[in-house]
This record gives sequence, C-alpha cells and structure tokens, in this order.
Amino acid sequence: MPDAPPHAPHGPLPDGGTVRPMTRWGSAVMHRPQQLVTSFDDELRTLVADMVATMYAADGVGLAACQIGVDQAVFVFDCPDESGEHTVGVVCNPSLTLPEGPDRRLDEGDEGCLSLPGAFIECARPDFATVRGLGLDGEEVEFSGDGLLARCLQHETDHTFGTVFGDRLSTKLRKKLQKQHDKVSDEFPDGWPA
Ligand code: ZN
Repeated sequence: MPDAPPHAPHGPLPDGGTVRPMTRWGSAVMHRPQQLVTSFDDELRTLVADMVATMYAADGVGLAACQIGVDQAVFVFDCPDESGEHTVGVVCNPSLTLPEGPDRRLDEGDEGCLSLPGAFIECARPDFATVRGLGLDGEEVEFSGDGLLARCLQHETDHTFGTVFGDRLSTKLRKKLQKQHDKVSDEFPDGWPA
C-alpha cells in the first residue's frame, strides 16, 4: 500500500533529475559554509531535481547540495515526523529556530548521513525544529516538525553551514561511527548511489 500523500506546502519536489555520486565527509566543499542561492532559475531547478533523484536513490530522507559537490546553500527533504506523516520540501538559504527554556527537550536518537553511509550513532538534538528560507521560486517557505523531521531539518541546515553531524559528537563516538562506516564501505563504492 502506498503511504498517504506527503504534506507539500509549496508543491511537489521536482522530478526527472539525474542521480549523482555522493560527496563524502573529508571533501572540502562539505566543511565550509555554502554560497547563498541568489538565482531562482532553471539551473537551480535542475540542481534540485538531481538532489531529489540522488536522495531517493540513496534511500535518504534529506540531502544538501554540498553532498553532490555543489557549493550552494540549499537542501531537499522527504521525511516523516513523529506521527509518520511525510513532509517534502526545498529550502534555500535556511535559518533554524529551536525551542528554548522549558520547551527545549533533547532527542537522543540515532543519526546517520548519506555522506558517511552505513553508519548510525546517537546524537542529541532538540526534539522540535523550525526552518525558514526560500523555495524554488524564491518564495518564502517555513517548515516545522518533531521526530525524525526535527532531526532532518537540523542536520540538513547544518550541511549548508559546513557542519557534519560528526562535528557534534565526542571523539569517542566519532571514532565508533567511522569504524561502522569502514566495515561496510565496500557496499558504497565511489560512484554510489549512481
Ligand atoms: Zn548529512
């Protein structure tokens, strides 16, 4: 049975893109703040369609442009929240708002990254997040959510600032994560998931 149609406040994700090889942690583009998106044109639409195709090919719930080697502050996602409802979206130049004070609760769930495939480890993050930015046509967009969606919005926004979730881990957990990846790295050859 297909899932219920995803919640898509600004319309469906662009399709027809080309699956591109995943850029990995350690590539310079992933570890610096990304250039702001300033042109909302066909080139952006093509980039985003490729990101969507690559995200689905890799079985991911979110993907940032730097993960296909492009230095632009934009990410796409198709991710369930706590209730299982999927939201899809495109966010250019994202900025994050997280709960503060008594509303701030941490979710200690596991996290993974398509740019270090096959490895998952606990990473504490606020259990709710709101992201604001611009959509494919330069329109203002806003997405909020809990559960995996809260984690995804934070993880992908981090990418646009050159942060990978390994940067948020202790040395010990980072080593454990790397070991997990190394064990299965043969399953993710250079061109993966293309
Ligand atoms: Zn990632």
